[in-house]
Amino acid sequence: MKYTLKNDYYNVEFEIANNSTCIVGGSFGEMSLIKSTLMTAVLKNVMTGEEFTVSSEDFEKVKAHCYSHSLKVYLSEPNGLKDIVIVITGETEEYGIVWSVDVINDNSGISVMDVSYPLPVICSDHFDMFVPGACGKVIKDAGKKGFDFSGIYPMHQMCMQYFAVYGKNNGVYLGIEDPRGSMKMLGARSKDGIAQITASFYAVNSNCAHNSFSVYGKARWQYFKGDWYDATMIYADFVYKNAEWLPLIGENGREDTAQKYKDIPFWVCDYIPNSEYQGANRPMMLSAGSDHYEPDYWYNAVIELQKELGVPIAYHVYNWHKIPFNIEYPHFLPAKEEFAVGLKELKKHDILVMPYINGVSWETRDGELGHEINFGNTGYRGAVIDRNGGIFTFEYPQTTVSGHKAKLAPMCPTYEGWHKTLETLIRDIEQDFDVDGIYIDEISAHPARECHNKEHQHLPGGGSYWVENYNLMMEKIRAYRPDESFYFSECNAEPYMKSFDGYLTWTWTHNGEVPAFPAIYSGYIQMLGRYSIGAKKEDYEYFKYVTARAVIYGQQLGWCKADVLYKPEWLKFLKRSVLLRYRYTELFNSARMLRPPYTESDLPDMVTESAHMWFEGEDIDMECVFAGAWKYRMRDKWVIFAVNIAEQTANFTMSFDINEYGLSDTALPYGFRVDGSDCRVSGTLAPCEYKVWEIESK
Ligand SMILES: [Zn+2]
Repeated sequence: MKYTLKNDYYNVEFEIANNSTCIVGGSFGEMSLIKSTLMTAVLKNVMTGEEFTVSSEDFEKVKAHCYSHSLKVYLSEPNGLKDIVIVITGETEEYGIVWSVDVINDNSGISVMDVSYPLPVICSDHFDMFVPGACGKVIKDAGKKGFDFSGIYPMHQMCMQYFAVYGKNNGVYLGIEDPRGSMKMLGARSKDGIAQITASFYAVNSNCAHNSFSVYGKARWQYFKGDWYDATMIYADFVYKNAEWLPLIGENGREDTAQKYKDIPFWVCDYIPNSEYQGANRPMMLSAGSDHYEPDYWYNAVIELQKELGVPIAYHVYNWHKIPFNIEYPHFLPAKEEFAVGLKELKKHDILVMPYINGVSWETRDGELGHEINFGNTGYRGAVIDRNGGIFTFEYPQTTVSGHKAKLAPMCPTYEGWHKTLETLIRDIEQDFDVDGIYIDEISAHPARECHNKEHQHLPGGGSYWVENYNLMMEKIRAYRPDESFYFSECNAEPYMKSFDGYLTWTWTHNGEVPAFPAIYSGYIQMLGRYSIGAKKEDYEYFKYVTARAVIYGQQLGWCKADVLYKPEWLKFLKRSVLLRYRYTELFNSARMLRPPYTESDLPDMVTESAHMWFEGEDIDMECVFAGAWKYRMRDKWVIFAVNIAEQTANFTMSFDINEYGLSDTALPYGFRVDGSDCRVSGTLAPCEYKVWEIESK
């Protein structure tokens, strides 16, 4: 029997038989749907341990109720297994369909391990695809180019929960709107004109028979007109209304972040040179052949750079502890003697100092060094146990004293002992040193892990306990923090946002990067820095590109080393960028990012070669001219920025929709021409020039 859910903008046809349910076709605007299963699930025989996948086409009994605005399908007896029912409900709205999934498992021999959210498979001659990694990424003409990436949400490369597939005029938003940020596997694939977005929920109480549960959140398929920005605004609407991680903001952005941190335009990151004890174990991504190792360089250069820039800056300092990097975690105290000396000097200047610690991992061989409390007698209690009963660990390139590679075990955040360890460590650092805040590595970067540790106070498998308990840990730590201290973590997985004042946005530079994350979250958290060191440390064009991108996206700039001081050209461009960012501090704290103006120039893209970084194997095309637009939340004032990072003059044209920006009744700056709703400005940008237009309603 065929059923159709449709409205003016979409139609989806289902074929529902006695033992099978699938999507057989339909469309969302320009995008066609092709035959696909409606859902899949992974089941496990708890006696034999055998895991197998079933799809909505493998059920012995199917019952459907279809009405004009909803469809409910009861899928019973997968592969003939009794007492397992998966209920899929789709409800139509004007522009799309919203899906929920419930699992009723009364089978005493079977556990449901994973269940997918219903998502269609899309087909079109031409489409672009948006994926939610880092700041957001668009794969142009993805059906021809091909793309394949999957990862656990929440983590750095899957930091939000929505995708979009769209053609020239319109497309479909595919979002998992889960306000609790539960862990799930998200994926995006494109090949031969077909796009497949997948999202799979890790079952609650998995590995156990009789695990019945409702899948957290809902899947939304929604027609939209436009591109990635329009899809982003659909997700933003969900976030603003429902997301549990959204902090409160006021007129000037986040109210629980002290003003002095909101005022920071620029960050240095560097590390205190290794001691003999630390051997060759360094923070690899921060190291480069040209690094300076004079004993007082690590703080004197920063002081000199601050004097050059003439504005307050912040310093993210690594390797301040006696233990080697990635070894003997979490024993970050005691500090090296020189840390206290340098800290005192830095504090005499306008420099906020924030040391590194790790908030997720315990190094598993720390017992070899004689630590009284170690992984072997304590940390193992917090270890994540995987589906097969093993301790989950991750190997790093640093080497332990016994010659082994560092093996770090992420701590399940329901383990109270980890909360106490972190809280004690942070309080001790704050008491012993006059630091301005602490960087707590990995929490908003590390993939949430399903945990099967039977000693832990959570049901095994999936759910939202990972996010909730890291947030609970941080809530306690934040509650008693010294006045005016700043906590930040790595990358920008969204559901930890309330726990931190800032996210270290170091990996945002990609081919096809788009500012989806700042378009939703500017004002809700400080986004600080872009990586321009390590393998890219001597690449001036790359340095200008990432610095200018950060200005346009409203990030705090930098996360580079202070030795830019010794390179006059670099320093000149940096100073120009930092002073501009500083001048617009209030804007970036309290404004909303608008759709970036469409910008063209007569300068070809520059190309930077792939490096030993996250974009290994992929050269990056760098536009020379690009632009951004912002509007204050509480008043009718707009600021538009354009930049040329090249060493030649650029002829450029920039355009935007005057109605969308809300500027139709406002006097525009000289040179802006309006034709219908299209507003455009043409002109020249000198080498390395920023142009700024302020527009205010009288
Ligand atoms: Zn656990």
